[in-house]
Amino acid sequence: MILNILTHPNNTLRKKSSVISADEILSAEFQKFLDDLGETMVEFDGAGLAAPQTGNLKRAVVIHAEDGEIKFYVNPKITYKSLRRSIVEEGCLSVPGVFGDVKRPKKIWIKYQDRKGIGHKERCDLYSSRVLQHEIDHLDGILFIDKMIKK
Ligand SMILES: [Zn+2]
Repeated sequence: MILNILTHPNNTLRKKSSVISADEILSAEFQKFLDDLGETMVEFDGAGLAAPQTGNLKRAVVIHAEDGEIKFYVNPKITYKSLRRSIVEEGCLSVPGVFGDVKRPKKIWIKYQDRKGIGHKERCDLYSSRVLQHEIDHLDGILFIDKMIKK
């Protein structure tokens, strides 16, 4: 099912999302939600999509990885950020028509659970680092326009 994407300005987009318990991850309802989240990202051709963008204030994101894989990250947490930063132009399905440069750490380490609730650690570079930092910001009510240095 294609979900409705909230657009800025919207109060829900500014709220902090909550951690998902192990039981909830495995629930049929949450599994269906993840399917819908992935389907919605593909439908709107996003690089990634975070649950709160669809009005569901849960710490879950999906990204369209470079190899074409659709990857879910539940309760993602950045555990390390590189000192080196890069500037890349970003856009967002929740802020249609706006694109601008954002400076972010080049590399990050994250820990997260997959859709089966299994914990992982991952080192992210380049594209996946950039997309995940943007999506994880959504879980804390932060939009890329807050960090944009130039339109
Ligand atoms: Zn976004």
